[in-house]
Amino acid sequence: MPAITADVLTLPRIATPDPVTTEERPVRYVTTAPTGHEGEGFPVRRAFAGVPMSELDPFIHMDQMGEVEYAPGEPKGTSWHPHRGFETVTYMIDGTFEHRDSHGGSGTIRGGDTQWMTAGGGVLHIERPPEELVVSGGLFHGVQLWVNLPRAQKLVLPRYQDIRGTSAALASTADGGALVRVIAGEVAGHTGPGATYTPITMAHATISPGARLALPWRADFNALAYVLAGSGSAGSEGRPICKGQLVVFGHGEALSLSASTAQPSAEPALEVLLLGGRPLREPVVHYGPFVMNTKAEIVRAFEDYQAGRFGLEPAERLTHTD
Ligand code: MN
Repeated sequence: MPAITADVLTLPRIATPDPVTTEERPVRYVTTAPTGHEGEGFPVRRAFAGVPMSELDPFIHMDQMGEVEYAPGEPKGTSWHPHRGFETVTYMIDGTFEHRDSHGGSGTIRGGDTQWMTAGGGVLHIERPPEELVVSGGLFHGVQLWVNLPRAQKLVLPRYQDIRGTSAALASTADGGALVRVIAGEVAGHTGPGATYTPITMAHATISPGARLALPWRADFNALAYVLAGSGSAGSEGRPICKGQLVVFGHGEALSLSASTAQPSAEPALEVLLLGGRPLREPVVHYGPFVMNTKAEIVRAFEDYQAGRFGLEPAERLTHTD
């Protein structure tokens, strides 16, 4: 799992939260993501399936894409499709992904890079592996997270940002047993490059076999941990967790995760995506590619999409199909 890695001995250290003065978040429950297929067929795990929206707020949806080893000619992407009312955050761990949208945004992300797309008032886009990866096949593994937009900013102008993996803030635990990559927001004073309209924290932690990661976590944020690979336990109660499971933490000021001493041979460490955000506490109506506050706004989104108000697919695609 390449993502971005570093010699942990050279990194700034995260001080372990004092258990006497810091209230640790209990594990409320652990869910297991069902598997499915996205678009024309890449395998995904639906990380948030079955979790009430009120617990996810301000997050809406998350897919773990892959991990899959494609044969030549096999890699697949999505077709052109619309979004309105939220932001997509795509983090590539292995492999390469391309993005193009009707608002002029385009970019290629690979191992450890993140792409931020603010759909805002409406965008059409396509997400797919690049042509050379389709030809060669290869490893493909990433995550796409949907972050809600506050009511007042649902219809902002679309925006596209590429964030290189090398710009993530890196830190390690005191014993060097865990590496934390802060992609957005802040963890123990380490601030990542990503910025969404609503405050969030997003970090990818690699915890070595037998090691423990304990972090301070903002009390006004929710706290979720999704297991990308490996096995271990969550919280001081030691709730067992494995690949494809989501931990929903309760209230508190810190959280902890531990990696099992023995890991699956193909997955040498516990790999976890840590997520937190300040809940918007606004009504959420999510229908297909649109996330709005009311049903009437969803109807309006479909009308605007069908009337071509989300823009046009770039010309390259149009000539391609002629
Ligand atoms: Mn999309």
